[in-house]
This record gives sequence, structure tokens and C-alpha cells, in this order.
Amino acid sequence: MNGEWGEHCGLFGVYGHPESANLTYLGLYALQHRGQESAGIVSSDSQDLHSYRNMGLVSEVFTGDVLKRLPGRSSIGHVRYSTAGASDLKNSQPFTVHYARGGLAIAHNGNLTNAHMLRDELEAYGSIFQSTMDTETIIHLIARSHEHDLADRIIRALKQVEGAYCLLFLSEEEMIAVRDPHGFRPLVLGRQKNAYLVASETCAFDLIGAEFEREIEPGEMVIINEDGLHSFYPFIPVSPSHCVFEFIYFARPDSFIFGRNVYGVRRELGVQLGREHPAEADIVIPTPDSGFSAAIGYGHETKIPMELGLMRNHYVGRTFIEPKQSIRHFGVKIKLNPVKELIRGKGVAVVDDSIVRATTSRKIMKMIRKAGAEQIHVRISSPPITHPCFFGIDTPMRSELIASSHSIEEINRYITSDTLGYLSLEGLKRCVGEDNGSFCYACFSGGYPIKFPPRMGEAQLQLFEER
Ligand code: 5GP
Ligand code: MG
Repeated sequence: MNGEWGEHCGLFGVYGHPESANLTYLGLYALQHRGQESAGIVSSDSQDLHSYRNMGLVSEVFTGDVLKRLPGRSSIGHVRYSTAGASDLKNSQPFTVHYARGGLAIAHNGNLTNAHMLRDELEAYGSIFQSTMDTETIIHLIARSHEHDLADRIIRALKQVEGAYCLLFLSEEEMIAVRDPHGFRPLVLGRQKNAYLVASETCAFDLIGAEFEREIEPGEMVIINEDGLHSFYPFIPVSPSHCVFEFIYFARPDSFIFGRNVYGVRRELGVQLGREHPAEADIVIPTPDSGFSAAIGYGHETKIPMELGLMRNHYVGRTFIEPKQSIRHFGVKIKLNPVKELIRGKGVAVVDDSIVRATTSRKIMKMIRKAGAEQIHVRISSPPITHPCFFGIDTPMRSELIASSHSIEEINRYITSDTLGYLSLEGLKRCVGEDNGSFCYACFSGGYPIKFPPRMGEAQLQLFEER
């Protein structure tokens, strides 16, 4: 599929519920948008950890029988998506290991920026890695630590890593959640009766009828065990840099993260886009599904009626087998189809959340033109993406990001639209409300909140895949 970025993940954990694996399954189901390549759950029955993970969607990986083999009152789960190369069962999560003090499972959302250096060091001292994931580095650091209890081992390990991490750990006795001091990725805490829940986004709590308690804060470590919940701030505080792309694209619109409802933010981005780039158009067409919320705001602001001019087939799985040339190349048509009768003869404003490589956008505009549009005005509810992400979104290499080497006018020509307008960075900042904490805008500005070790950057994106 085109326009896709590297790796993003979803986390869910339960402590203290007789059906913890079933709840985790449901939680992961609600977080499926954060990763569609593999899914896994590890449960603890207080004596042992039980694990199951496989490639595929949550609904494909887990059956009733599999869930029955995950007993116990606590569980953690993970959904993962990554581009080819590292798309491999051994890289799926949660990872489970047995070390001197028992079993330990770990699930990670984010990306460590100094993992390759730590890994070199660990290997030089004899550690043997089983996967190509940066997450495994944390496990080795924990296993090597001489601290007595698990929380101290985790703190010691995490003091050595840099980058973005939301982590869930599960041992026989406890569940531990940690959010990195920058708070790049979201992590939320919930309750259901006596059980504690942790998830990447609140939409997972809604599905299982749990109460959203609060966000786990940047730099916070939450330990949940027989004695209840304990919160610590073991790291040196830094000013937060929440990933603004969670608001723009990744998170589900019905979730509440970084102090705001995602739909509300996206709609506002559309309103602001309408102020900055109105269009002479008869109708506004959202690009399904990611353009919906912003298109509603855009239509509201510009007073141009919104119409569903593109229909999406939601049932295209990752395993879709494209027929060879003998039939035809479907391209983006397998997913989207224009409503010709609506579009014919009209000036249309097409709203989408972002342009990455511009390959999908180009196909969509050609499709809309073929459906008879007179004029196409593309409106994007985020600024041009000029820089790769090293904090868990693994954007394509810089060279593949069209806006890193092309002007807006060149991109406009490439995607074959008549006009193209992107939301300004100032407009974006105004909408997300800097007073809710500060955000990371590195993909739009190159202003990375963490300084990278020398020779990092582009090379790092491939490093773990090459080994
Ligand atoms: P492009 O035109 O750059 O090829 O694709 C742009 C589209 O990709 C937009 O509709 C945007 O919503 C979508 N997009 C942005 N980031 C991601 C991602 O990480 N995964 C997927 N599947 N689509 C993305
Ligand atoms: Mg999209």
C-alpha cells in the first residue's frame, strides 16, 4: 500500500481481572489502527507467563481456543505494523524472556534513538540478540542489571536509553507502565471495577466499558501489583514533546490524548485550513477515512457543502492478492472509488490529512479527474512533511518524502491538481494549543527534540533490519 509509514504500535494492559486476556484482546481490537501486522498477548497466572503472538490482525491471530491458553488476572498486549524487512514473527511483541529473577514480558511503542550504540556495546560483552528490534536492547539492559527488584532494574536500563518509548512490562507478580520523559507517544490509565488498565488510547477503554482515569504523564512510571498502584518519576524531567502527528493522523478520532479529543483537534485543523486556503469549489470531498474530520471543519469554515465523493472499501486486508497484469493493475482503486455522478462537471476541494510520498494523492486526483471534475483544489490539514521521524513513526527516508525536495507548486503539478494548499506550521501550532504542553514538530521543521549520536539519522532507519 502506498503512503504508508514504517512502524507504529498499540499497547494494552490489564491488572487484576479474571478475564484479563479477553479484555486485552478487546483492547487491542480497538487499537488495531495503530498496527496491523502482528498481534500478541502475554498473560500471568502468578506462577508463569503465557504468551501467544502471530502475524496478522487481532481478529485473525486470536481465537477462543488461543485465548483460553492465556490464563491469569493480568495480561499485556501489543499490535504492530512495520514495513517489509522487519515484518517477521520474531520481531512481533510482547517479547518474553526468562532471566535470573523469573519471567518478563515487554511491549513497546516508540523508537529508541541510541539503541544501535547500546546494542553494539552489549554484543561486545556477549549478549545474544534474538530479534532485530530496538526493544530487545531494553531487555538485555534489564537482565544485566544488578538491582534487586524489577522496577529498579527497569529504571536503571531506561536511564541509558534515549528516544521515544511507552512501555508495558509484565512479570509473574506485577505490571509496570512507563512513558518516556518527552511524552512522545500517548499512554492512558483506566479502571474497571478493581482492575487497572493501561492503553495507548482511550478508545480501548470505551470498547470494554472501562473508566478513563487519567493520562500517564511524561517521565512517569506506574507500578501495579498486589498492593495497588504506585506512581514514580524516576527520570530527569525535560519539557514535553508530544507527537503532533498523533493528532493529525495516527490516533483514533474518538480518543482523548495529550489533553484533547482527537476529533476536535482534527476538525479545528480543517477550520484553520479553510481560513488559510479557501477554494473556489462547489463541493468539499474528504479522502476516506483520514481526511473526514478535517474536511468537516474545512466545509464549515468555507461554507462549501461537504459531499462523500470517494467511497472506500473497508474490507481490503493486508493479504489481498493483486492479480497479475493479465487482469489489470488495481492500484488505489481497490480501496477507493469516486462517485462519478456527483463529481462530474464540478469544482472540488479534496481534503486529506497529509501527503507523504504523494503517490496515493496522485492516483486519487487522477481518479477524480477521470470522474469528470472540472477543477481540483487539494487541501492538506498539516504542513509539508520534510523530515523523517526517529521517534516511533519511522517515516520513509528523507529522499522519499516529496516535500523534502519539491516545492508546493511542484507537488501540485505532480499530483495533477489545479491548486494545492497546506496548513501552515503556525496554524497547526495554534490549533493544538501549545498551552496543553509542547509538541514535536520535527517532521515539518527538522527541529528534533533529541540530539542524535553522530552518524545517526538516515542510516538508523535500516540498521536493525540489516543484521
Ligand atoms: P501519499 O499521497 O503521500 O502517497 O499518501 C498520503 C496518504 O497517506 C494520506 O491519505 C494519509 O492519510 C496517509 N498516511 C499518512 N501516514 C500514513 C501511515 O502511517 N499509514 C498509512 N496507511 N497511511 C498514511
Ligand atoms: Mg489517508
